[in-house]
Amino acid sequence: EQATEDLRRSMDSMEEKSAQLHIANREATESNRLKSQFLANISHEVRTPLNAILGYTKTLQKGIKDPQHKLYIDTIEQSTNSLLAIIGDILDFSKIEAGKLSLESNHFNLRALIDDVYQTLSINLLTKEKQIDLVTEFDAQLPEWIIGDSTRVRQILTNLIGNAIKFTHQGSVKTKVSCQTQSDNKLTLLFQIIDTGIGIPEHKIDRLFKPFSQVDTSTTRQFGGTGLGLVISKKLVEQMQGKIEVSSDPSIGSTFRFSLCLQASGNLMNQKDSLDR
Ligand code: ADP
Repeated sequence: EQATEDLRRSMDSMEEKSAQLHIANREATESNRLKSQFLANISHEVRTPLNAILGYTKTLQKGIKDPQHKLYIDTIEQSTNSLLAIIGDILDFSKIEAGKLSLESNHFNLRALIDDVYQTLSINLLTKEKQIDLVTEFDAQLPEWIIGDSTRVRQILTNLIGNAIKFTHQGSVKTKVSCQTQSDNKLTLLFQIIDTGIGIPEHKIDRLFKPFSQVDTSTTRQFGGTGLGLVISKKLVEQMQGKIEVSSDPSIGSTFRFSLCLQASGNLMNQKDSLDR
């Protein structure tokens, strides 16, 4: 009799605990949703005035003759652009968290895209007076035209190549691309971004792909950044059915490897289409 009563009590208590857990889970999901919504709204609200600042800064730049004033206005432009990049990262991160980031599909030339990323990032090299060789190596098998979300592919490459340049004082930053074609024009692209930079200590590698984690706050202050670039890149890679990993040695540098499952474009009409646009 006593044993039955004990069993009943312990089952009641388990049911109560399970109900409490259910409520706590529901509350956590709701609070996560609200957080993502809040981040998305804030990002949007902040972007509008920043774009106004940028617009008027560009207008003012045209009429300025005093070199000191030119320096001030150029700094305002640079800082506004940095803020816009941070806000963009926060917006992307909140979209990813909310499962609301969807991929587009378009035809693009991967070699041209990588050359363009290098071109854009090399401006930083000139201003920071760094001596780094920028190298690209493409597999001969790489199809000229690819179908995928070129904006997001560009974003991943800009993050990784940008970091490689940011954390390298001298030597080289090399981007290698190879590929494996399968049936139905399916294409697995393999990227390696190899730098001769400051490297990442082994015990810090685990934290790299976690939100807001920067390896070293003193380097962060020195180099700037949100600590979201790698998190976003990892999510984007995974959304394209790929994987990302890193190996690093502070005395040699770092290598980031990632894969993407996209499609080779066999349609000449579409290729021409994309060229004309
Ligand atoms: P951030 O915007 O701060 O660069 P990331 O997510 O892109 O954010 O990178 C997180 C941190 O990982 C960086 O702050 C840096 O400490 C480290 N890191 C990333 N890439 C490299 C690299 N190529 N070499 C050395 N450290 C790196």
